[in-house]
Amino acid sequence: MSNKLLKKVLADFGNFPSGEVEKLIREEVVESDIYRALFDSLPDGHVIIDKDTKLRLFNKTMNQIMPQRKGIKLKEGLLLSSSISDDEVRNFLLDIVSGKDKLEPRDFSIEIGGEVRTIRVEFVRLYVESEAYLDIRFRDISEDIRKEVRLRRSESLASMTTMAAGIAHEIKNPLAAMKIHLQLMRKAFSRNGSMTGEEAEKYLAVIDEETDHLNSIAVDFLFAVKPMNVELKLSSLASVIDDTLSFLAPEAEEKNIRVTSSIQSFLPRIMLDERYVRQSLLNIIENAFAAMKDGGELTVTLKQDGDYLVLRIGDTGTGMSEEMMSKIFEPYFTTKATGTGLGLTLVYKIMKEHNGEIHVNSELGKGTVFSLSFPVPQSERIALEDNRDEHTADC
Ligand code: ADP
Ligand code: MG
Repeated sequence: MSNKLLKKVLADFGNFPSGEVEKLIREEVVESDIYRALFDSLPDGHVIIDKDTKLRLFNKTMNQIMPQRKGIKLKEGLLLSSSISDDEVRNFLLDIVSGKDKLEPRDFSIEIGGEVRTIRVEFVRLYVESEAYLDIRFRDISEDIRKEVRLRRSESLASMTTMAAGIAHEIKNPLAAMKIHLQLMRKAFSRNGSMTGEEAEKYLAVIDEETDHLNSIAVDFLFAVKPMNVELKLSSLASVIDDTLSFLAPEAEEKNIRVTSSIQSFLPRIMLDERYVRQSLLNIIENAFAAMKDGGELTVTLKQDGDYLVLRIGDTGTGMSEEMMSKIFEPYFTTKATGTGLGLTLVYKIMKEHNGEIHVNSELGKGTVFSLSFPVPQSERIALEDNRDEHTADC
């Protein structure tokens, strides 16, 4: 506020009584000391440079956070880059001020007092009295990163515990069934000394089925806990869908399920790992098939909606209640006698790895629709717009 008054004094200097001017200057000194103390107490280092990249202001935190070159101290009028001792940071700042690099934050590992810290350098443009300044912020994010790692570790430990508990539970049932049938076989043997082929076949079929069940638990479990080494490449989602549908066509026919697909043309490519996306589609469609025991219809549509490609997979199966819908992505939730309950957990994980979203809509007795949206990368959006321009120009 006193700044405004000072400006008035400046504009009409000669006409102000000297006592008044002194009072105003004193007030200004106090106020500027307060701002200075506030600036020095900020947790981030700040350096403000003018349009000639000369240093105008810096705070105390800056001195602590960013090692300076020996013999050179930060002071007003100095070129910022000449004082910073870290080569990488210095070169980055040089590229920034010369306009070579965009004003986007970047993280650096810097040794401070014998310890490696992560410093994030960020920029904020300031405009004062129609002059442009740049506020360069140096933030020590080492602690945030450590916290995040700890959190991720405890989250993965927690999910490992759930998984381990789940798998122990899952294994018990097939093992119990196998044990019972082995006992029955032993009894039949000890009673008759032999067994008819029919009897043996009955028991062996159960043991065989349960072995398959155990195997699928092990396979799905390994797939679920294995870190996903998703390799995203610009690819066509439409071709992955086409391939998967052709692969499933014989099974659909056998199960009396009509498959219709509608895929918009000229869709942009997206970043995806074909193996994992194919696995997701298989899991969703296998579930849909299982929900249509007496046949039905599978509808697959793919179209662009703004910055996303949206894939919808609908069935005319049993549908689900609200309560069921809220559980289906949880590990080991299954309503099937020989299900693993890991199929949709995996799909969820895969969608996360693709920065996508998955939603489900369902009505009991009517059917279910899964919607998967995948982000379209910036580069593809532009390429597509260019193509469209060319297309119109040709017409
Ligand atoms: P699983 O197939 O081994 O049971 P999933 O994670 O693939 O495990 O699916 C979990 C449960 O979600 C299924 O057991 C089923 O009850 C339900 N579900 C999934 N998809 C559908 C669908 N399209 N229609 C009806 N229920 C479904
Ligand atoms: Mg499944």
